[in-house]
Amino acid sequence: MRLVKRKTHKMKNQKELKLISCEEALERMFEYIDGALAGKTHSEFEKHIETCRGCLGKVDFQLKLKKRLAGVRSTPVSKKLTGRLSNILKSQSL
Ligand SMILES: [Zn+2]
Repeated sequence: MRLVKRKTHKMKNQKELKLISCEEALERMFEYIDGALAGKTHSEFEKHIETCRGCLGKVDFQLKLKKRLAGVRSTPVSKKLTGRLSNILKSQSL
């Protein structure tokens, strides 16, 4: 039995992912945030932000912004309306 000590397995488990540039990453960023990226493009994007702090920061910022906007959207009732509603509720309970 012969032991073959070769360390040439680096490309195998990465499925030949292309290293994308910051420009390409930024083009995909909004799709990534919307969850529209899938498969290889998604993996390539994640691989890029794993190694690129600049783009990771931008993605992080956009994700936080999106969460904040989603929070605003989930509370569509304005203060004026809640005030009016509470008045109606008060008058009904009396
Ligand atoms: Zn980058």
